[in-house]
Amino acid sequence: MWYCSVAISGFNELYTYSSNTAIGEGVVVLVPFGRSSRRAVVLDCSQEASYQGVIKSVKAVYSHLRLTSKQIRLARWLADYYFFDTANYLQMMIPFHHEDIELPRHIILNSDYQLPGNATRMASYIEKIKSGTVSYTNQLPAEVLRRLLQRNIITVSDRKTVSAFQPTQRFEKLTSLQHAAYETCRDSNQQVLLQGVTGSGKTEIYLCLMENILQKGKGVIYLVPEINLTTELEKRLKCEFGQRVALIHSQITQREKFRQYKAIEQGQIDIVVGARSAVFAPLPNLGLIVVDEEQDSSYYQSESPVYHARDVAMVRGQLENAKVVLGSATPSLESYYNSHTGKYKFVELNQRYGGTLPTIHIIPNPETINEPLSPRLHNELERHLAQNHQAIIMLNRRGFSPYSVCTQCHNSQRCPHCDVALTYHKSMGKLLCHYCQYSRSYPGSCLHCKSSEIHLQGYGTQKVEEQLFDLFRNYGVLRMDRDTAGRRSKAEQIIDEFTSGKQRLLVGTQMIAKGHNFPEVELVGIIGIDYLLNMPDFRASERVYQLLMQVAGRAGRAKKNQAHVYIQTSYPELSAIECTAQGTQEKFYQQELQMRQMLGYPPFSRMAVVAISGSDRESVVQALDAIADCSAVDGVEQMGPAPFLVEMTRKRYQWKLVLKSKSRSKLKEALLLANNCVLSSSIQRKIFVDPVGIL
Ligand code: ADP
Ligand code: ZN
Ligand code: ZN
Repeated sequence: MWYCSVAISGFNELYTYSSNTAIGEGVVVLVPFGRSSRRAVVLDCSQEASYQGVIKSVKAVYSHLRLTSKQIRLARWLADYYFFDTANYLQMMIPFHHEDIELPRHIILNSDYQLPGNATRMASYIEKIKSGTVSYTNQLPAEVLRRLLQRNIITVSDRKTVSAFQPTQRFEKLTSLQHAAYETCRDSNQQVLLQGVTGSGKTEIYLCLMENILQKGKGVIYLVPEINLTTELEKRLKCEFGQRVALIHSQITQREKFRQYKAIEQGQIDIVVGARSAVFAPLPNLGLIVVDEEQDSSYYQSESPVYHARDVAMVRGQLENAKVVLGSATPSLESYYNSHTGKYKFVELNQRYGGTLPTIHIIPNPETINEPLSPRLHNELERHLAQNHQAIIMLNRRGFSPYSVCTQCHNSQRCPHCDVALTYHKSMGKLLCHYCQYSRSYPGSCLHCKSSEIHLQGYGTQKVEEQLFDLFRNYGVLRMDRDTAGRRSKAEQIIDEFTSGKQRLLVGTQMIAKGHNFPEVELVGIIGIDYLLNMPDFRASERVYQLLMQVAGRAGRAKKNQAHVYIQTSYPELSAIECTAQGTQEKFYQQELQMRQMLGYPPFSRMAVVAISGSDRESVVQALDAIADCSAVDGVEQMGPAPFLVEMTRKRYQWKLVLKSKSRSKLKEALLLANNCVLSSSIQRKIFVDPVGIL
């Protein structure tokens, strides 16, 4: 009899089950657990049981689902660092599919073969095989495959195929500035931060680095912050490097995920593209991880299990001896700091490849909060459109109006389940809660006094779109936000339509800012950003600076006229605004670092948030008080307990305790105590290590 120690999601300790046969480390199994069954991962198997109690036997073994020892090592690191159970990370790393899937096999063209003169169809496929556009059996019609095999023209093999990658010397097209940056990235023994202004050719440098790594027979992971960006990139990479590219994102089926996982693991894939979860792709011989827009907060996964994909990339790079290149026009302060203290190599590209950087103008907000565009911005927009340019207006608020106020009792209409105002969505004719999706029809009657006189206030993307449509309908107006571009295909459609030039005005949330290349845009207007500056987050100023630079970077990407960016704000003197306007990036980072150092925030300290939620406010606060007492450690500063920015969502109260320390080990000690503090079962506790955007 064999005894296996297995990890089960949600539990820190390992459980023992018996089996008639030995089960390998990393294999996924099904085990009886309480009154039901759970999936688990085998971490150890031996013929002696260390557990003394009753031992049940494993119910099913999914031998086709097996985590590698590298993955197990990484999962253990993650569990230790982020205070979650190992099994949670392990199960996230392998997609579940109940049965094995047979992968297409690799085609190898034999060296001497005879082809009958009239076999034109076969001949055309042979050409495709030669050129690399066809390399797997599933790319051939069954009939053609059968005949090619029959005539001994090809052979097929299934495992560990080696890529037949042909280098193209693509680095030859780099400018001398880019070339120098490329060489430094390539030759550095350290991990790299590549800081390059928007349009400087960071992507070109990634591609050259990839070619260099592929040539060595190693694999590449290429991370982007947003899945809307992956399709375009996947197409480009396939075109540059052939078909051995896999795209990983959350919107594919479990079966498809498993098929990809297997292909990657078996060495049939050289390049994996995706959003944060792609950092776990099991490439057997990983050579490079590119993290583009490394400052983006979407790399932080705040749902369980928590992790920061950029930091995981660094750890994987170290564990697997792979190069990691972080790229950004406006790096996170952490990475900037790390690259200036010698931890990473700092590589800079401060010139655009084509086009010039836009001129930035700071202009005052309009007189009233219901007016999105100031007269100045309106005039500039009119002028640019008349000259046949394209323009973008960015505001970070979807819906039509963010507030609705009763004219009788002056109360604002708020969600009954969450502590937030309802947003009016005109297309639905509804007031909607952005946290729980609660909705009620508009105008309806006031929640407080039943009056039907409810007044809309402020503006969101829908309202701006409507106004711009009234003013400039002849030029064509598009809107891109989560409501119009929630699905990937929709987003692509809007981007294509705008790029084609038929529509000349694009309104959207920060979704439009990420990575897209719109060469004809010569005016960018940024409105409604002041609330971001007032966010109770020590990163508020950094976020605003990065957002402004990124959105501004959409302008003037082609060598044409001087492009202009207009930023409407009431805070021209704040450093995030001032440094954007003056183009003094270095100054911004230095000032911000000084501030962080003074206040003891990251990167000068480590932080964690202990979040507590429950349906009874009193007990939530009490629980957090208890945790604060439990976790008091010398050298660890406690801030709070305090409610989250939105104190109630879905009728649950959310409070937090922020822990801060210069010493990672002391912080860890405090977190261990916080984690072990006994709470009533109606209370939920969650720990966020290195929190990003946890407000
Ligand atoms: P970034 O990622 O830094 O914003 P990109 O890599 O997207 O910049 O480059 C901006 C534009 O300039 C792209 O259209 C890209 O193809 C082009 N480009 C950059 N470098 C070169 C080069 N050396 N040769 C040809 N085109 C280039
Ligand atoms: Zn009222
Ligand atoms: Zn709600």
